[in-house]
Amino acid sequence: MGSPLVAVAEGVWVTTSRRYATTSTVLLDGQGGALVVDPAWDPDELAAIPAALAQLGVTCIGGVATHEHYDHVLWHPDLGEVPRWTTQRTVDDLTGDRARLLAPLAEFLTPDLIEIAGRLSPLAGGAIPWSGPAARIITHDAHAPGHLAVHLESEGVLLAGDMLSDIELPMPAADDLTLDTYLTGLERLRPAVAASSLLVPGHGSPTRDPQGRLDADLRYLDDLLSGRPSDDPRIGDPENADLHRANLARAERMR
Ligand SMILES: [Zn+2]
Repeated sequence: MGSPLVAVAEGVWVTTSRRYATTSTVLLDGQGGALVVDPAWDPDELAAIPAALAQLGVTCIGGVATHEHYDHVLWHPDLGEVPRWTTQRTVDDLTGDRARLLAPLAEFLTPDLIEIAGRLSPLAGGAIPWSGPAARIITHDAHAPGHLAVHLESEGVLLAGDMLSDIELPMPAADDLTLDTYLTGLERLRPAVAASSLLVPGHGSPTRDPQGRLDADLRYLDDLLSGRPSDDPRIGDPENADLHRANLARAERMR
């Protein structure tokens, strides 16, 4: 079987799940180590990632989960018992509310894979402690509390998690009644977006035009806040219908 990993930049590989075009990202440290970010999703897809690392001749040295949602905290035994980092808030939420947060996995995963999902450690500083290129963490609460992005500043690479997608509309945290926190999160990401030439979203396609993604989200939200109809093409996707309605209601509360 061929490797599912596709190189999108030097030392940056991705594979895309059959479910919601969910992106798993592999970052190489240049010394034979690999950092695996948000591996997803079905058992065969999870198993294919360590197999692909073996083909590349690299060993998984750690993992990163961008946020607490069940499709971003998965793992596979063959990736090894290595540290899997995330924010303190994500660790706290998964500790306090594990059963509810991970309940949807029963539909997709075997019990052994559910057992190792969400076993995460808090990052101590503002960067990933690995030997690869400096990987700065940017945190915000736009899509989920304690959501992180990974910014490889020297490489111009931004791993955005569930932000800045070409297929998913801006999705505020479920209990967010306005768009304020979301807009704050986009502003937190703005400098890293401007400094990047490659953006990898948690769902959808990597792009060489990170600024275009940010501008599209800002335009969509500004249309809603101004009461204008938005011509954002993502609105036409039935998967986004409920989300778009919820965003219209959030915007309405802000006027
Ligand atoms: Zn999410």
